[in-house]
Amino acid sequence: MTEAQHPHDEVIIKGVAAAPGIATGSVYLYSKMIPEVFARAITPEDVPLEIERLRNANARAEKELRKVLAFAEQKLGSDSATIFEAQVMILGDTILMGTIERRIADELRNAEYIVSDEISKYKHLMLASTDEYMHERAHDVDDVMNRIIRNIQDQKLYSRLEGASVIVTETLAPADTVVFSRNQVLGYATDLGGVTSHAALLSRSLKIPAVVGLRQATKMVKSGDTVAIDGYAGLLIINPAPATLEALAAKAGRFRAFEEKLADIAGLPAETLDHIRIELASNIEYAEEIEFAKVQGSEGVGLFRTESQLVGRPDYPGEEEQAALYAQVADAVFPHPVIFRTFDVGGDKLAPDTHHEENPFLGWRGIRVLLDRPEIFMNQLRAILRASVRRNVRIMFPMVSTLEEAKRARAFVHQAKDELRAKGVQFDARIKVGVMIEVPAAAFMAEQIAAEADFLSIGTNDLIQYMMAVDRGNESVATLYQPFNPAVIRTLHHIVEAGHKKHIWVGVCGEMAGDPLATVLLVGLGMDELSVIPPVLPEIKKIIRSIKFKDARRAVEKVLTMTREKDIRDYLSSIIKNKVPEIPLEN
Ligand code: PEP
Ligand code: MG
Repeated sequence: MTEAQHPHDEVIIKGVAAAPGIATGSVYLYSKMIPEVFARAITPEDVPLEIERLRNANARAEKELRKVLAFAEQKLGSDSATIFEAQVMILGDTILMGTIERRIADELRNAEYIVSDEISKYKHLMLASTDEYMHERAHDVDDVMNRIIRNIQDQKLYSRLEGASVIVTETLAPADTVVFSRNQVLGYATDLGGVTSHAALLSRSLKIPAVVGLRQATKMVKSGDTVAIDGYAGLLIINPAPATLEALAAKAGRFRAFEEKLADIAGLPAETLDHIRIELASNIEYAEEIEFAKVQGSEGVGLFRTESQLVGRPDYPGEEEQAALYAQVADAVFPHPVIFRTFDVGGDKLAPDTHHEENPFLGWRGIRVLLDRPEIFMNQLRAILRASVRRNVRIMFPMVSTLEEAKRARAFVHQAKDELRAKGVQFDARIKVGVMIEVPAAAFMAEQIAAEADFLSIGTNDLIQYMMAVDRGNESVATLYQPFNPAVIRTLHHIVEAGHKKHIWVGVCGEMAGDPLATVLLVGLGMDELSVIPPVLPEIKKIIRSIKFKDARRAVEKVLTMTREKDIRDYLSSIIKNKVPEIPLEN
């Protein structure tokens, strides 16, 4: 839909929340100027002049960077400023600069061409590395290279803004982030990048709201458009409606007041006042989110949505590719555990070999697909097992409807283990295998399924939609999508009891786990683990640390006598207002 057709249509794009906060303002569409470099032959007589151009450019680049460095130090502290020190060091690297000068003389080529060629070699080596840190550093090297070339070509610094703006750009180098922040930057929205890109880290330090990984944002806005950034939910809202702006302003106020009080909670356990420990983990789709989750105080990953690997590709990744990703994630999370959920394709999610279905949510989804495609399932299971050598990896199956499916899926794990054993490949022989309870039929059979599982994790997003017969994405029936419906709560109660009867732990990884209104209920029901999106983690921990388990239990007893969802909401909300008045509730 173009803007001309519907001038006031609000468009919401979902990305990854990179730095918390809300920003509203007009767009500055920033397209990073990558200097064009052409090879040009020079004569031997030109060499001294060419080398002088290089040295001058280098000196100017260093001056620019030192300014950024000083500014970063003053604004961010010396730790965060080290990125720029590293860039200054590249400029001062006498071996590198010596090589460049020698090549200019030997090859009789212009300075910017040799700079680009020589520094690109380093960059490509770094990009070829499987280490995520090296990847990020490659972008720093790129930034230094462009800075020298721009100075050789005598171009001016481009990070200049007119008035307060929300920067929308494909990607952002750390130096851009800092330079922009001297102007009035309200927020950042980028097509690419993960939450650990330095730009994201710096945005957090600079307290500028940022959303990354928006994929097509730069194609959907132009400079001057009004947008809002929700750095908590990871949203870019184009042409926000007045009601949306109002809701965002209210949200911003609540969070600001609240965050000020939450800063010190990250290192503390998620434990009730009467010392009942809850495992508080995070839901993650990309490896890049782990660092932010850790900063938020996450104790591991309770749901890694492995189907995120399928974005933008026509096929399933092979065993090697998956094994590398899972090992990287497991290492980053260690010593805490990570639960890899096997591909949950179908429904509203991607599936490389999908076909049209009238009712995709009731169709070929999750474990159904994997059981029908043993080669895909086995590749993934072997890959996960290979990443389990440090014993902090778990496996979980999505969309299980029958006991039979749970048993069959588990048999595949045995087969994958046998195959690896035969090849002498190491893995955790006692790896824990869990089942998601998100289909009502499975909820009713929770006890029998629990007997075949090492843990249960409740997917409330789907469980609620299937219980209430409400499409989770359909606005017109949204009021019936009720997490606090007494039928849903009774079902949650039944699942926990069933799991505990079989002596296994039970958690919740649906969005309900991250709803502050649900925390007392879920703790009181006896959930052992809650897995939430990283931005809300401190808030949920704060509630857990402010209540007594025995009071939560009592509250649940009362809730279980109630028959109206509104009464349940009101009751839970009164508990929060009383026990943790600083929590910003949505209603
Ligand atoms: C759920 O259904 O609650 C869940 C966590 O899985 P997803 O949202 O990925 O379907
Ligand atoms: Mg689900």
